[in-house]
Amino acid sequence: MSASGSAQVRRILVAGNWKMNLHRESAQAYYQRLRTQATDTKGTEVVLFPPFSLIPLASELLQETPVAWGGQDLHPDDDGAHTGDVSALHLLDWGATWVLCGHSERRRDHLEKDDLVARKVAAAQSHGLVPILCVGETQEEHDRGDTESVLERQLEAAVPQGKAPWTLAYEPVWAIGTGATATPELAQRAHAFLRRTVSSLADAEVAAGLRIVYGGSVKPTNCEALLQEADIDGFLIGGASLDPDSFLDIMRRCGTFV
Ligand code: PEP
Repeated sequence: MSASGSAQVRRILVAGNWKMNLHRESAQAYYQRLRTQATDTKGTEVVLFPPFSLIPLASELLQETPVAWGGQDLHPDDDGAHTGDVSALHLLDWGATWVLCGHSERRRDHLEKDDLVARKVAAAQSHGLVPILCVGETQEEHDRGDTESVLERQLEAAVPQGKAPWTLAYEPVWAIGTGATATPELAQRAHAFLRRTVSSLADAEVAAGLRIVYGGSVKPTNCEALLQEADIDGFLIGGASLDPDSFLDIMRRCGTFV
């Protein structure tokens, strides 16, 4: 899909965030389904974010498939006294190529602030992992009309400089896990604002080629309408990625836009 006012073509990304869900048996069955059914992703890029404990199994079973995997978080340091944390080096040991940074549930549950999120993005890039920087306003901020100022603050803190690849996810917190998907028009407005802001904070070429995915109650029934918008380049999917049928369905529907 081409950017508004730009000849850049951005490859669609379909990303599944399992959060703290699925276990060894269900994950194994899920990976097997992808092995047999996600053989041709028709040009879309697909990545799964399982809980850390299920990443080694992904590295065994998703090898030689078009599906990549990544961490839901990382510590910005490589090693050290950080009980319970995992670094970019651990993710690389498991063959991960992606990592989520600043998901709203990390910001909420672990009080992650913008400066820490920025350090995570930098750590990921310095090790060759592709960070997905997650930004989005809460319901309260949305109701106050503060969406753009919140997005601007989150970007100012964490937009990487330079040419290392990264992806941006617009995830309005009020749409996550609620069924209240943003309308395509609202999501497009936010994505266009994000692209303009990245252009002023980094550079125009980076912004034009940057993939900006939408997250927030994406389902097979709403993904195609969202994908019609010029600045929506794919999805970060929580709930609907837990069921391989709906995740494969979204992949198929996104494939039709390539
Ligand atoms: C998410 O957790 O990133 C997310 C978008 O969740 P859901 O699809 O369930 O709203």
